[in-house]
Amino acid sequence: KWEEIIQKLKVEYFLSNISFETWIRPLEVYEIRGNTLYLTVNFKASIEHIQNKYLLPLKVCIAEVTGTEYQIKFIPRDLPREQQRRYLEKTAPVKEKTHKHKEVSPIAEKANLNPKYTFDTFVVGGNNNFAHAASLAVAESPGEVYNPLFLYGGVGLGKTHLMHSIAHYILDREPSKKVLYVTSETFTNDLITAIRNGKTGNDLAMNAFRDKYRNNDVLLIDDVQFIIGKESTQEEFFHTFNHLHNAGKQIVISSDKPPKDMTTLEARLRTRFEWGLIADISVPDYETRMAILYKKIELDQLERYQIPDEVIQYIAMNIKTNIRELEGSLNKLIALYRIGGRKNFDVSLAAEALKDMIAPDESHKVTPELVLDVVSDHFNVSVSELKGSRRNARTAGARQIVMYLCRQMTDASLQSIGDLLGGRDHSTVNHGVDKIARDVEKDETLRNTIEIIQKKISPL
Ligand code: ADP
Ligand code: MG
Repeated sequence: KWEEIIQKLKVEYFLSNISFETWIRPLEVYEIRGNTLYLTVNFKASIEHIQNKYLLPLKVCIAEVTGTEYQIKFIPRDLPREQQRRYLEKTAPVKEKTHKHKEVSPIAEKANLNPKYTFDTFVVGGNNNFAHAASLAVAESPGEVYNPLFLYGGVGLGKTHLMHSIAHYILDREPSKKVLYVTSETFTNDLITAIRNGKTGNDLAMNAFRDKYRNNDVLLIDDVQFIIGKESTQEEFFHTFNHLHNAGKQIVISSDKPPKDMTTLEARLRTRFEWGLIADISVPDYETRMAILYKKIELDQLERYQIPDEVIQYIAMNIKTNIRELEGSLNKLIALYRIGGRKNFDVSLAAEALKDMIAPDESHKVTPELVLDVVSDHFNVSVSELKGSRRNARTAGARQIVMYLCRQMTDASLQSIGDLLGGRDHSTVNHGVDKIARDVEKDETLRNTIEIIQKKISPL
């Protein structure tokens, strides 16, 4: 009967596939005791959300299918048996759902969101299922469950992808919601600009800044670790946080480490980060890595290449700690195949594709190639564009930053940097290095950006 009940629930309450798979599918009947039906759920932290959102629909569907009205209680599977047993006795409190007055807000700014980063394209595995469930709960009921939601995990493990997914999900359902996604770099640079303009007598600058960040239903701040050590940014972020939190607005934060390990972050911010729910994303296991590769093949329509399973397995076996690299090696493999005029994919081609990827993790030495990769990633400008001849401001600026950082962080010669950047001569490189060195002196936002890129290259 259970299957019938949940299918009915899905259809009659218009559950999306993701909501259904995340909340309802994992529910299992534990036991029936008198008039009480005990259901197991994946995580203790999900119970509150499931109760708020799905308890009534569940009761109705159960009653309609079985003809009996049951009380429902949830038992989390992520607790030790002993503690689970206590749930059998205890009645979880059901929160009164308050009906808030709905405000009409201006059309949502969809900017800053990558259309590819949605819940639909996110592969759920053991490494991220808690973070995924927490993100979906927040997306379904912003401001009502976990506030703030704090996501943390290493580089390339899906934090940004989840944050964008939350924003898309909310905007897709309620386009009138004010949703703002920014990196902490943008927050800092906006603040620097506001302060600078304020000094020149423009009092509106600070108001505009506060309006941008406070007048939101949902604020998502990515890579918050980069505000560490920046006093005025921390101060302003503290007030932004309080303002939004007091108003019941949703805040989502990501970082490379949990709040308790952000030891040099102001204590009052650290404690606030711990107010809501903290969810980590860890390194994916082999099966999840395979699933991610197959998902990418599907999404990018790469089936036509008919890459053999053993080649995919080879990649999944060798790239373990960074999903961006996992995807990168698949791209590299296909690029090699196309330019090499090969007839088919085999493990030797995969080995060639992975050649440069396996090493960098082990040696902590900063190489010009690493600088190039990180800058490319940071500005979302491809490596080949940086090597090429495009001269628009963004590409040219990023290119000069590569030159500058190679000089600062490696012992590469001007000539070798020029070679790395597609064969530019040493005087071009020299000019670029000087230009950035001069700009950094007078431009505080550039200084902040460079500092963040340096931390990305060499986190220590
Ligand atoms: P982070 O912000 O943690 O450094 P990102 O969110 O930028 O990582 O993810 C890096 C890349 O890996 C992105 O292209 C993202 O789409 C992809 N990715 C990460 N996790 C997943 C996942 N679970 N399923 C599918 N793609 C993923
Ligand atoms: Mg990110």
